[in-house]
Amino acid sequence: MNLETIAIQAGRGTDSDTGAVMPAINLTTTYKRGNAAGMVYSRTDNPNRAALEDCLVALESGAVGFAFSSGMAAVAAVFQALSSGDHIVLADDTYFGVRELTIDILSRWGLQHSLVDMTDIDAVADSIQANTRMIWIETPSNPMLKITDIEAISKIAREANVMLGVDGTWATPILQQPLRLGADYVVHSTTKYLGGHSDLTGGIVVAREAAPLNENLQVIQATGGAVPSAFDCWLLLRGIRTLPLRMRQHCSNAMAIARILEADPRVHTVHYPGLQSHPGHSVAVRQMSGFGGMLSIQVEGGEDKAAIVCGATKIFTEATSLGGVESLIEHRALVEGPTSRTPRDLIRISIGLEHPDDLMADLDKALG
Ligand SMILES: *Cc1c(COP(=O)(O)O)cnc(C)c1O
Repeated sequence: MNLETIAIQAGRGTDSDTGAVMPAINLTTTYKRGNAAGMVYSRTDNPNRAALEDCLVALESGAVGFAFSSGMAAVAAVFQALSSGDHIVLADDTYFGVRELTIDILSRWGLQHSLVDMTDIDAVADSIQANTRMIWIETPSNPMLKITDIEAISKIAREANVMLGVDGTWATPILQQPLRLGADYVVHSTTKYLGGHSDLTGGIVVAREAAPLNENLQVIQATGGAVPSAFDCWLLLRGIRTLPLRMRQHCSNAMAIARILEADPRVHTVHYPGLQSHPGHSVAVRQMSGFGGMLSIQVEGGEDKAAIVCGATKIFTEATSLGGVESLIEHRALVEGPTSRTPRDLIRISIGLEHPDDLMADLDKALG
């Protein structure tokens, strides 16, 4: 089946008692013993969560899914499923929160890590140690839009008997399916494109069949308890129904704007994998069916100019986050704080679903 059909049909059953075409929101905390579904308590089981997990498993061609209350909770669950003394290889431009989680929290529990440039395949192979259990990549990456060759890294992982986890938040399962390219785990912050309307926080882990951490993940979800509410799962599934359509328009709007900005003398660099000038373009063409709705630009005039531009837009709202129908803009280094590795003149832009001409006119004016 095609993704457009899966996105609408997966996890959607017509209720046999009422004929309701859309699912009810199951707010119950507990379930009568002996029920046919085997549900016990809402931290461990919830029908809305189960439907959401089924849908994402289908979209990713995975075997099992675990929904969490945020993207960070999903990433934390995967890392917690490892053991003290294990080593992970992380992309050197991994999402800021993931780097903080690893360095500030999990290192105290004995999880070791190395930061590596994932576009340097030899460096990735060299970073594998005797205790390495997982390579963790993010593609496209936040906020530099670096593209990592999932297939090439999965080959290294397989040869070294190491797991591969992919944060696919920026691509969504519509544009890229890491499990089909050899990954063991794919994670999304569902707060972003999957929800798509900036009104919920969530995360998901989808695993291939018999991936080594699946049992641990199930226990961490049920016992750690960072589970999403029934309402958030319901909202998410509702958002996913239009995900393929939304992604098509996000891609088309972002491509149009990236092309115009690339020729603009006020912008010295445009990071967008759809541009031929992007160093990851050929890998992106191979592993993605579209280039997404995120782009970052570096402006002439440095940090001060970047801050002015972010404050001057009228349609783009200056706010963190991404992937909603509305366009957002932010000066990333300021948001990340003093330990940020992001260039000071970089502006991260989430291209929404407004008309691209209106978005471009807004950016044009703000660039001054
Ligand atoms: C936002 C984001 C996360 C974190 O997700 P939350 O839902 O905010 O916890 C992780 N990875 C990437 C690539 C993100 O953009």
